[in-house]
Amino acid sequence: MDDYALVLNAGSSSLKFCVYQRPRDNDWEIAARGQIEGIGTSPRLSAKDAQGAVLVNNSLDASVADGHAAIEALASWLRSKWPGAHVLGVGHRVVHGGTRYGQPVLLTRQTLSDLYELVPLAPLHQPYNLAAIDAVFERLPGVPQVACFDTGFHAGHSQVVELIPLPKEICKSGLRRYGFHGLSYEYIASVLPTVAPAIAKARVIVAHLGSGASLCALKDGRSLDSTLGFTALDGLCMGTRPGAIDPGVLLYLFQNLELSAKEVETMLYKQSGLLGISGISNDMRDLLGRSEPEARLAVDYFVYRAAKEIGALAAVLGGVDALVFTAGIGENSSEIRRRICEASSWLGLDLDAQANTSGNSRISTEQSRVSAWVVPTNEELMIARHTWSLLGFMQPVS
Ligand code: AMP
Repeated sequence: MDDYALVLNAGSSSLKFCVYQRPRDNDWEIAARGQIEGIGTSPRLSAKDAQGAVLVNNSLDASVADGHAAIEALASWLRSKWPGAHVLGVGHRVVHGGTRYGQPVLLTRQTLSDLYELVPLAPLHQPYNLAAIDAVFERLPGVPQVACFDTGFHAGHSQVVELIPLPKEICKSGLRRYGFHGLSYEYIASVLPTVAPAIAKARVIVAHLGSGASLCALKDGRSLDSTLGFTALDGLCMGTRPGAIDPGVLLYLFQNLELSAKEVETMLYKQSGLLGISGISNDMRDLLGRSEPEARLAVDYFVYRAAKEIGALAAVLGGVDALVFTAGIGENSSEIRRRICEASSWLGLDLDAQANTSGNSRISTEQSRVSAWVVPTNEELMIARHTWSLLGFMQPVS
């Protein structure tokens, strides 16, 4: 019987997963990559094998309405596909590790309870990440589970970068800038020596542009700063989050509009950003296809903020050698890449328009002083690598 291991990335309405398989005396290989989408609305399970062939693409019963039910649905599909499979371990993405957890850890009930304390710092992600861990504890009690943190890669930031300039007594409770999307940045840093060796040790700004969006300043493959901070609300404009706003706006919402903390939380995490500006959609692809002025304004603001923060991180790095785009928007939208590169031309970035629309990895001209790249991210593989090394398995290759 082959061995199996799972990687889970559980969100509010989706559960992404990878199934790894180790045929006897062989290396780990990916057997399935898929997701359950539409949890709580119209749940659907889809998965493909390593060659991209569809393994399943079914709508699920509407009772798949939360993380536990999604794990149950996934477990029953896995059982039907690989009956009697022996699961050796499960790796999870956990957004916030707080002050206590940076590097990947083997999960215990105590660790899980510590991580639940961080839910208020990442209400859009953390409860769902942890619900998946809980569900696996219940279903597969003897199987080791590993948490990999989105904050971990940024753990070496300097004191100044981490600082939140409030009274120091307040900050003692863990108020500092952590940074997120760390698994994505760590993956990008790990592949640059192969994909773009000339910049792997240089000053690189990585733009992770997806539903959540941030930038990371990399030098010699290490994170020096990032646009996300204490929570995943800071920095760039995102699908439903505003990015950095004047904190006085929050006082105004509480004091003048008399909104409750819960209402403000919902507004900041679920109703702002591209969705709030446009009133149409949180989805960049939708907005790019619309002609309404509000949709255009949302896209303009997204590009403006990204270009502005690229300037800020260029200052952090003392100059920049390369800009790398990744995640849903960064990998797929040549239009957004073009606009951000044009707004960053003052840095010495000269976009190659044809390369940008041809699926090339390098999208700047040969003469460009600052090079630009598209590098697909793979957070799940990063989780697998960490999980495998903590559990003492041989590393998966893809
Ligand atoms: P992610 O969170 O990384 O899955 O990215 C999701 C975002 O990527 C959504 O805003 C999508 O609209 C956007 N996206 C995916 N494909 C495209 C595309 N071809 N053009 C523009 N945006 C895209």
